[in-house]
Amino acid sequence: MKDEYDVVVVGAGPAGSIAAKNAALKGLDVLLIEKRQEIGDPVRCAEGVGKFNLRQHIEPDPRWICADMKGSRIYSPDGTIIEMAEEIAGGEVGYVLERKVFDRALAFEAAVAGAEVQVKTRATGLLIEDGFVRGVQLMQFGEEYTVRAKIVIAADGVESKVARWAGIDTTLKLKDIETCAQYLITGTEIDPGYCHFYLGNEVAPSGYIWIFPKGEKMANVGIGILGSESNDQQRAIDYLNRFVEKNMPEGKIIEMVVGGVPVCGSIEKTIANGLMVVGDAARQSDPITGGGIINAMDAGKIAAEVAAEAIEAGDVSEKMLMNYEKRWKATIGKEIDCSLIVKNNFINFTDKQLNSLAYSLKDVNFTSMSLMDLLFALFKANKKLLWDLRVIF
Ligand code: FAD
Repeated sequence: MKDEYDVVVVGAGPAGSIAAKNAALKGLDVLLIEKRQEIGDPVRCAEGVGKFNLRQHIEPDPRWICADMKGSRIYSPDGTIIEMAEEIAGGEVGYVLERKVFDRALAFEAAVAGAEVQVKTRATGLLIEDGFVRGVQLMQFGEEYTVRAKIVIAADGVESKVARWAGIDTTLKLKDIETCAQYLITGTEIDPGYCHFYLGNEVAPSGYIWIFPKGEKMANVGIGILGSESNDQQRAIDYLNRFVEKNMPEGKIIEMVVGGVPVCGSIEKTIANGLMVVGDAARQSDPITGGGIINAMDAGKIAAEVAAEAIEAGDVSEKMLMNYEKRWKATIGKEIDCSLIVKNNFINFTDKQLNSLAYSLKDVNFTSMSLMDLLFALFKANKKLLWDLRVIF
């Protein structure tokens, strides 16, 4: 490890590895650091991802694709099913990944592009001079180092500290975070071609239960509920246990995951002099689905492009890095703010309203598999939503 780089990226999740890869491809001298000794492990993810958006960043590889989905089924509290199927829609659904392998493949691509990768290396602070972030303090194998950088990219995930060290407020309230629990379950019959989503206040208040198949007789079965709905008696794991006992009594749990997903929509600030924040650290995941992999990769790529422009111009000031903020807010930001409004409507629905909504949508032939298509159908069934969304469009 040298003591000076153009760019230091903190965190080798999807956001960090894509940022490092793209910055290296632009000819920058890049260091990517990861606090864990194995990139991608432990996994905190249901591993579902859209095919089209994924391909913008990496060619699909059977080594990290666990299952290829034909469609999704959404179950309302009374069991009414909304089905979005590839053969009807003619669009593409998604993959269920093996993220342990996927995250490593992304870091591998960053390394091949020329980035230096250091694992078991934790950022412990920032080097700040004259109001500019000028590097990172690191801890590796018990030794402390300071590494200088023209730009630092904070990709340190939902528990991000790097942004806060630079004075950026990324605090989440309980209502802004989905608390999640998930089992990897085997030995039970699951339709392997479909992702399943279960709604209802009994099942998952202000959230949903998902079943994402990972091949024959194996699936991620998880739940996300708003932090504000969780208490000592009714935690996400309690709802999940009830669901699994009732619906998959023969299933065997072979892995468990707990974690949080930001569902707050776009935050005000994600830059400082010499610093950009990307992915979950910048709270860029989708408030309805909780999906954050694609947004993290998209943001990582934008940050890398802006870093290259700023370094070439010799100006890494917040004003210059505003290009990053403008670009992600015009794309990812618009989508997650739209999702936030829909979510805020959705969490107030009673089970009766959910049932009647599902009933009105059950025969809709979705013409594509996108969330926007589902939202469009939702608007038609719920005019208030359209009114609330006028602020976005
Ligand atoms: P991360 O993937 O969290 O990567 C951050 C990295 O930074 C980590 O490797 C961490 O070890 C490292 N790091 C942290 N601090 C430091 C430090 N100080 N120094 C060095 N390294 C550091 N999204 C989807 O798209 N589809 C899903 O199906 C889905 N399911 C989910 C299910 C659950 C239960 C949860 C919790 C999340 C789910 N998500 C899903 C969200 C998705 O996992 C995240 O949005 C995505 O991982 C964000 O990528 P990231 O690179 O921003 O952060």
